[in-house]
This record gives sequence, structure tokens and C-alpha cells, in this order.
Amino acid sequence: MDNGEFRKTDDLVSGKDALDEDKLNAQLEERYNSDIIYTYVGDILVAVNPYQMLPLYTPEIALKYCDISSKADFAPHLYAIAVGAYNAMMRNSQPQVTVISGESGAGKTESTKHFMRQIMMASSRRNGGGDDDGPRELHPVEQKIIQTNPILEAFGNAQTVMNDNSSRFGKFIELKFSPIGMVVGASMSHYLLEKARVVKQGPGERNYHIFELLLAGGDLGALKLAGISQFKYLASRRSDMDNLKAEYTEVIEALGKVGFTNEEIEDIQRILATVLLLGNFEFKDTSSDKAEITTAAELEKAAANLGVEPEKLRIGFMTKRLEVVGQAIIQELNITDVQYSRDAVSKALYDRLFTWLVTRLDIMLCPNNLRSEKQLTIGMLDIFGFEDFKANGFDQMCINLANERLHHFFNEHIFASEIAEYKAEGIEGAESVFFEDNDKILDLFFSKVSLLSILNEETNFPGATDQTLMQKLTDQLKDQEALEIKPGGYAFVVKHYAGGIEYQIEGMIEKNKDPLPNQMAPNMEAASNSVAHLLFKPNYIELTREAAGANAAPEESKAAKLKRKKTRKKSRRGKKARALPTVSFQFRTSLDQLMTEMNRCIPHFVRCIKPNLEKKPKMFVGELVKKQLKYTGMLQTIEMRREGFPVRLEWGELLQRYQGIAFPFSASYGNSKDMAIKLMKTAQAKQEEIRKEKKLTARVTTLDGWKPANSKMF
Ligand code: ATP
Ligand code: MG
Repeated sequence: MDNGEFRKTDDLVSGKDALDEDKLNAQLEERYNSDIIYTYVGDILVAVNPYQMLPLYTPEIALKYCDISSKADFAPHLYAIAVGAYNAMMRNSQPQVTVISGESGAGKTESTKHFMRQIMMASSRRNGGGDDDGPRELHPVEQKIIQTNPILEAFGNAQTVMNDNSSRFGKFIELKFSPIGMVVGASMSHYLLEKARVVKQGPGERNYHIFELLLAGGDLGALKLAGISQFKYLASRRSDMDNLKAEYTEVIEALGKVGFTNEEIEDIQRILATVLLLGNFEFKDTSSDKAEITTAAELEKAAANLGVEPEKLRIGFMTKRLEVVGQAIIQELNITDVQYSRDAVSKALYDRLFTWLVTRLDIMLCPNNLRSEKQLTIGMLDIFGFEDFKANGFDQMCINLANERLHHFFNEHIFASEIAEYKAEGIEGAESVFFEDNDKILDLFFSKVSLLSILNEETNFPGATDQTLMQKLTDQLKDQEALEIKPGGYAFVVKHYAGGIEYQIEGMIEKNKDPLPNQMAPNMEAASNSVAHLLFKPNYIELTREAAGANAAPEESKAAKLKRKKTRKKSRRGKKARALPTVSFQFRTSLDQLMTEMNRCIPHFVRCIKPNLEKKPKMFVGELVKKQLKYTGMLQTIEMRREGFPVRLEWGELLQRYQGIAFPFSASYGNSKDMAIKLMKTAQAKQEEIRKEKKLTARVTTLDGWKPANSKMF
């Protein structure tokens, strides 16, 4: 540990020497080995996951950082970024956003929690709380906001190979403040919960935490789960029952504290139990190729939890409604289709439950009168990093295209602001500084005829298959530079900014549908489980908001809303279109909203780095870190500095090095800007010449201590 003071090496781009990939890596490693996990690379905070509890987050340290006035006051810390954002918001009445990125297990969610608490600390400090007696208690609204963490983690996190507590969704939380800077509410939204996990988990992985918590702490008798020794949807389970019970109690209490009613909490538990029971349904084939359920007891139990007749539930997922020459026909499904349909119900039910939870949290934490607050807000984005597995499909494609959008956002802010700074300092040639944008990849995904538009078209086209999709992609996008169709037609490669990634075509269309079997909703009309009853309606989100008296969809832009309405109308009218927006369409819409939101904010970037795959402390695997530095755009940042003006000297340093050209060597001018300018004039050492000949440039940094490049933070 260091002593908490700021040292030159704390900012890796303020040094005299040009920085490259290897140097950055070596410096991060050296710091990491001394338990220094935070480092600035210019305005960006790099955080290397320590995988151990370091004494970095004590109330004393939190308080100390509240009084920071310049980033250079103390050693790099997430707390400095949090307080900097808060101060900037208060000073300039400008909304702020922090993008916390990194791959799975890098520490995004932990960082987001620390960040949020520190903002609450800064808010309290400003308003007279948290003096030498220590930090004050959180206000009720702050407590509520903090309580959303155990809820979201229980329902949205699961153990994976990469991370024992992996968030399987992206999240954006925005804190809202009163004019004097007190936290008065928060809004939240989520992006793409991984639905497939509900019914199947890979080796070494588990289902969402909440299922295990429920089985450890819930009233199994009442939920009709007693006596069942094995749940097919749970590949493996934890055995630390005491912890599970305690966590369960924490989640149930949190639900109550944020404002869910007892009835709602019971309904939620019954929905979870239903999903577990659905997983244990078994079927057999009959001679007429119609499936029959062989676990009548499980069917009854699940139906009881939903509050419907067992036969209604059976018809709901074991039959489908067809239109044949204008006539509705109800067809019984065969065993393969029934199993698929059963899993589709489980996934949709859980996914909708999660969306409903987040929507309700959003409503409860953000009263209507705060919805329009745009100035005094601090957003936090905790979102999945780039994914490149052995086999990549629809989910990875969505995750990676979100990362392309974020990379674009990052480029715009980091590079554009850098170039603006060069210009402001009168340094010529700034425009020619090299940086590679990712516009071509964004076009490939989002332009009028693009991967997404073709995928959506095919998804809504009756009879379309993955093969017809591939054919259309080949026909219509073959000239796109960022795309390569693999021979054999089973996969395509997208040349992402972080490297080429191969996506399998199989399953793309199916995953892009919202696959609730069409007989389910009508048969759930009578469900006495009110939450389940709501969730089976296609417009359950709007209904949830309407019931709460909140705006139908406050974050939705007018354009997006219009588009959505048009799509609906079209699908009602058109015979070909199968209705309802696709998963990728909804994802794109929510990304558009997020970007609109973020673009009005002053951004801050935290890049979380995972030092090893073993989740071990004190283990730094250079190659792994390098890859992430590339994925997170750090290397490009550094590259740009190198291509541009890598060396930044303070006035004093410039004088020390070159004063002999114009003044006596022995003279001492301190950090005098006047003398430095005199020196440059006298020696007629134009900045351009210095840059050309020595690969050096003088940079106008403030005299008395380092300040961030664009002093937006403090
Ligand atoms: P995912 O994308 O899978 O959700 P993530 O980036 O959100 O991953 P976290 O869940 O925040 O990762 O962190 C993974 C684990 O790393 C934590 O459970 C914790 O054990 C450890 N960890 C992360 N940050 C810290 C920290 N600052 N101090 C100590 N341990 C940490
Ligand atoms: Mg996480």
C-alpha cells in the first residue's frame, strides 16, 4: 500500500517518457504487486481487481476523498472519480455519467457499488454530514436505493466459470439530486437478461441465485416444493445452507423495504416455484404423435402457484393456435415441441419477472416529479464487456454490438476532447492525429440495410430459417468490409474494433423472437397470482407503469415511441409480419435511449481489469491484461497519445531541460509560465519544430500541481 499521496506514476500519461503497451502493462503489474490497484491513464481510471479485501474503502478514506479538490491531491481511487463527478455536477449543474466497463469478473459491479456509496458520502459531506464523528447514516431514500443491490443481484446474478457472482444483465442507474445536492431518487433500466440460463447451465455454472435462496429459506410447503429432492433446472447447488438462508432473508426484507407489498412478494415466490416445477415436468409420446404429461402432480402444483386450473396451464403450453383459411385451430404439440414450449414459458416468465422488478424499482425510486430532472443527475453504467467464446451466437452479438456503441462513445469523448485540447493550445496538426473510428462496424449493424435490419426482417417472415437468413446476409452485405461470410454458410465473422469474432448462424432467428407460446396468455387470464397474470400480457410493462400512475415509458424517446407504435400497427395490419418487436429491435431501442441519455452528460470512464482467470489475489497474468487493455480501448488511447503528443512537460521541467538555450543554467525560475514562454520565444523554438525533431512537445499544464487535461472534473 502507498501512503495515499499522489505520485507522478499515478498517472501513466503524465510521465516524461512515451508510453506503450508493454510499459503500461509493466507499470500496472508493478503497482498491482504493491496492492495499488487504481491508476490514472489521463482522465481514465484503470482498476485492477485485487481479489482480496484491501483496506481501501474504510469510512475514513471515504471521508478523506470527499474533500478532494484536484485529482492530484491523493492517490488514484474510484472515490476520487465519484467525488469529482459529484462536484462537477454541483458546480456546473451538468449531468454526469460514469461508464464502468471490463470483462466478466473484472470488478464492474463491485466498483459500481463503491462508486454509488461514495457519491452519497459526498452528498452528505456537502450538506453538513459526516464530520470527525464518522459518516452519517444513509437517508431513507438512499437506503432504498442501496437495497436494490441485493435484489438485482439475487435475481440477475449467477455463478459462472468467470465469476461466482456474475451479472447476467447490463444496468444503468441514475441518481437524482435536489438543488442542494441531496439524493432524492434514482431511475434504473436494464439490458438483456440472459434467459437461456433459467433452463440450462453450462458445466461449472449455476442458475440465478434466487432459486437456491428460495429453496433454502422459503416456505417450501406453501410453495408446493416440499419433498422434491432434485430440480432439473438447477444443475448444481450450493451447500452452505446458513448463508443461503441469511441471503434469502436479506432479499425478502429488501423487497419489503423498497416498497413491494406482502402479496407481491408472495406472488414473486410462487412464480419462482412455478419455474422450478415446470423444469420437472415430464412427457411421453403417444401413438398419435401428441405429447402427454406424465407428472400430473407437478402440473397441479405449478398451476396452484399461478392460481389457475391445471388444465389451463396444460393447454397453455402443450397446444398451439393456428389460423387455417381464416379458421382458428388448436393443435396438440408433439414431445419435442412441448419440451421446447415448456422451456420457452419458463424463460419468458422469468425474464418478464425480472423486467417487472426493475420497472417497479424504477417507479418506486423515482417519483413522477423527478422524472424530468435532467441537470442534477449522476448515471452509472455497469455493462457486460466484449465476449468472444468458442461458439458465439445471438447473445454475444448483442453484447458486442453494445460494446461497439460504447466504444464509439468513448472515442468521441476521449479522442475528440484530446484533439480539441491540442487546438485550444494552438498546436498545429491536431486534426491529422490518427485514430481509428468504428463507424464501419456500426454501419454494418445499424444502417438501413444491415445485420440487424435483415435479421429482423427474417424473424418476422413466416417460414424463414437460419439458412434463408444467411443467404440474405450474403446477398445484401457481401460488400461490407467489416463482414466476412464463412464458407459453408454456418457462420459469419464481424471485424470488431477489438478483433474478428465468429458468430454461428444457428439459433439466431429463434433467439430474436419473444417466444411465449401463443396459447399461454389467453389461458392465464384467470390466474389469481396477480403478478403472473400481468406478466403474461404482452404489454405488461406499460400496464405496470400505468398502474403506478407513472408515465407509460419515460425514457422512451418520441421517435422510438412512434416507431414502436408503427411497428405494432403494421404487424396488426400486415399478414406477413408476425407482430411484436423482436428482441434485437427492443435491445437496439434501449441502446438508443441509453446513448441519448449519455450524450447529454459529462462522461467519466472506469476500466476494470481482471488480472487472472483463477480469481486469485496477487496474480498478474500479463497476456490476459494486455488483451483487456486492447478490448477496453486503452491501447488505442495510448497509441493516439504516441501518434500525437506523447510527452507533456510542466513549465518548470521545460525550463530545467532547455533554459540553457536562453538563460544561464544556474538561474532558478521555478515553474514560471512567463519565463518558459520567454525561453521558447528567445530560442525561436517553435512547438512544431520541437515535436518534429525531438518528438517532444511542450504542453500547457497548470503550474502549481497537475490538473486534469480538461478540468471538467474538479
Ligand atoms: P460480471 O460481468 O461477470 O458481472 P463484474 O465485472 O461485475 O463481472 P464483480 O462481480 O464486480 O465483476 O467482481 C467479481 C469478484 O471480484 C467479486 O465478487 C469480488 O470477489 C472481486 N472483486 C471485485 N472488485 C473488488 C474490489 N475492489 N476489492 C475486492 N474484491 C473485488
Ligand atoms: Mg457484474
